[in-house]
Amino acid sequence: MRFDIFTLFPGIFESPLRESMLKRSIESGLLEVQLHNIRDYAEGRHQVTDDYPYGGGGGMVMKPEPVFAAVEAVLGVETTTPIVLLTPQGRVFNQQVAFELAQHDRVALICGRYEGFDERIREHLATDEISIGDYVLTGGELAALVVVDAVIRLRPGVLGDPTGAIDDSHAGGLLEYPHYTRPPEFRGWGVPEVLLSGDHARVDRWRREQALRRTWLRRPDLLERAELTEAEQAWLRQLTQEWTRKISE
Ligand code: SAH
Repeated sequence: MRFDIFTLFPGIFESPLRESMLKRSIESGLLEVQLHNIRDYAEGRHQVTDDYPYGGGGGMVMKPEPVFAAVEAVLGVETTTPIVLLTPQGRVFNQQVAFELAQHDRVALICGRYEGFDERIREHLATDEISIGDYVLTGGELAALVVVDAVIRLRPGVLGDPTGAIDDSHAGGLLEYPHYTRPPEFRGWGVPEVLLSGDHARVDRWRREQALRRTWLRRPDLLERAELTEAEQAWLRQLTQEWTRKISE
C-alpha cells in the first residue's frame, strides 16, 4: 500500500518510519511512503506557502496554489486515489475508518500547519477529511503517522500473527481481553488459572467474557454497535440489573 504525504515538514516522518513495524513493512514492500514537500511546489524566490487571513485575525493560512500544485503533480488531475485532509474538523478517525482506508492500494494525506488550510483546498481538492480526535495539534504530521500506522497493520502480511488484528480492541466493536505473559507469578500477583489450563475452549470463553465485561465497564457506548449473540446480550442485561440493584441497596 502506498501513502503520498504532503507536508511542509517531511523530517518529522523520518524516525517513525525507520523503526519496528513500519520499517519492516517498508523493507518487505508492503508499505511505501512517499513524502512530498509542499514548499517544493511553491512559486517565487521565497517559495511562500502561507499568507495572512483575509478578514484579519491572528495566525497564517496555508495558500491554495502550492498544495494544489503538489497534489496534482503527484497524482494527476483525474485520480481515484482518496485525498485526505488531516483536520480537527474532519470525521473522527477510528478502527472502522482505518478498515475503510486499508481497502485502497494508494491514499494521499495532506498535513496542515499554522491556522490550517485555505478553505478552497477542502472544497475542491480533498475527497475526505479526517480528525484523529477532539483536540488541536500544531500540524497534521503526527495525525498522518497515526493514520498510516493504524491502517497498515490491517493489511495482510504486516502483522506477524495473521489473526492479530481480529481480536484487537475496536475490531469487533469490543475492547480486547487482558493479556498475561511469563512469569506465572510476579511480586505475588498471579495469572488467571484458566489461562494456564491448556483448555482452549475455556480460554476462548473467558476471553470473550472479559472483553464484554471490560467494554461494559469502560466503554458502554461501544456496546450499542458491537456484534453480540442473544446470549451475550442477555448476560449483559443481567450484569446491568445486578449493578443497578447493588447501587440502589
Ligand atoms: N485552526 C484550525 C486548526 C489548525 S491546527 C481549526 O481550528 O480547525 C494546524 C493543523 O494541524 C491542521 O491544519 C491539521 O492539519 C492539523 N491538525 C490539528 N489537529 C488535528 C486533529 N485533531 N486531527 C488531524 N489533524 C489535526
